[in-house]
Amino acid sequence: VPDEFTQAASVLKEIQAHGFEAYFVGGSVRDALLNQPIHDVDIATSAYPEEIKQIFHRTIDVGIDHGTVLVLIGDEQYEITTFRTESTYQDFRRPDTVTFVRSLKEDLKRRDFTINALAMDVTGEIIDLFDGMNDLNQQIIRAVGNPKERFHEDALRMMRGLRFASQLDFTIEPKTLTAIQEFHPLLGKISVERIAVEFIKLLLGKNRRAALIPFIETECYQYCPGLRNFGEALLNFSDLPNKQIETENQAWALFMHTMGLKENEVRSFLKVWKQSNQTIHHVQLLIYGLNKRLQADWEVMDLFNLGLDAVLSVENLLYYYGQKSKLEEAKERYLNLQIHDRKQLAITGNDLLAYFAKSPGKWLGDMIVTLETAVVNGQIANDKSLLIAYAQDIIDKE
Ligand code: ATP
Ligand code: MG
Repeated sequence: VPDEFTQAASVLKEIQAHGFEAYFVGGSVRDALLNQPIHDVDIATSAYPEEIKQIFHRTIDVGIDHGTVLVLIGDEQYEITTFRTESTYQDFRRPDTVTFVRSLKEDLKRRDFTINALAMDVTGEIIDLFDGMNDLNQQIIRAVGNPKERFHEDALRMMRGLRFASQLDFTIEPKTLTAIQEFHPLLGKISVERIAVEFIKLLLGKNRRAALIPFIETECYQYCPGLRNFGEALLNFSDLPNKQIETENQAWALFMHTMGLKENEVRSFLKVWKQSNQTIHHVQLLIYGLNKRLQADWEVMDLFNLGLDAVLSVENLLYYYGQKSKLEEAKERYLNLQIHDRKQLAITGNDLLAYFAKSPGKWLGDMIVTLETAVVNGQIANDKSLLIAYAQDIIDKE
């Protein structure tokens, strides 16, 4: 039993001491049984939120309508959710009503996949009402109950199923897969943000191809943002070496680059996926770098403009194109640059204004760029008087 559970055991015991049931549930139980690192232990209980708040002194209402209370103990926090059922999904995405119940079975029944419907009590005993242990051992993603009903209730589950196939390197059980095939258009009802969360996890999983093939074959991709006409391109992407991708930005860059998106299409594509401007900026750098680096070695200015992280990210991505990365060499070249940031330039705009007694204007920005480029390219040392002389030369020639 991992440490995280040992620490949280006191929470379960405390709830039980007040006459209620409490269990570890969901992803943490699944991952612990798979000997994988667990992030957050989720606790489910027969106690209602108000009852939880009476048992523990320090609590935060994080999702009280859904029955979730955050309990703070020392430096730790635990999400405790009341057993609940969810009824009548009118819009294929969210339950109309959440009803708190006292039965663990009812709670486990509403969960998406059998491997996610396992509970563990404080002694470490597993409560397995839907044969989740068997599916865990067989490495199978199987919907709890009737898969068609379950995807009809909440279409996001189809994307979740696919991303678990990638993350865990599991196979989707045939009836579950058939149901995804049948109901894939319901993904159109799900918000882009929620689809994006699952899709990124899918891209970053350890067997992305295990998810991409069914993602393409069931035509789920047709109801994902901006992918409707990309069936062929997605196949190309799924053909890449199946090595796990390290970062989200790398995943987007590799994805869009192999799908043939042009540099000027990157922004609008990521906007459709509701990605942040920061993500867009970084991914644009990577795609720019990838295009450069696939043709030739880095130019010094590229190293400077991209920065070390992006340069190394691009180097790592070369693997997927069957090219050798030169991590050490690129790093050394980068570190040998005279400056790594405009702020390190030995001269400022104010210095230039003062020295040349000219009024500010376009010439000033151009001059800074010229000096910066000369320093980065090693044509001149980063020294104030040398830079002034260099600038004087340029102005004299005009
Ligand atoms: P992760 O490791 O990514 O957190 P997880 O299985 O813990 O995986 P969560 O989104 O944290 O996934 O959800 C916790 C649990 O809640 C799941 O294991 C599952 O039992 C249940 N669950 C989450 N989303 C759904 C859903 N859309 N439909 C049914 N059950 C769900
Ligand atoms: Mg979780």
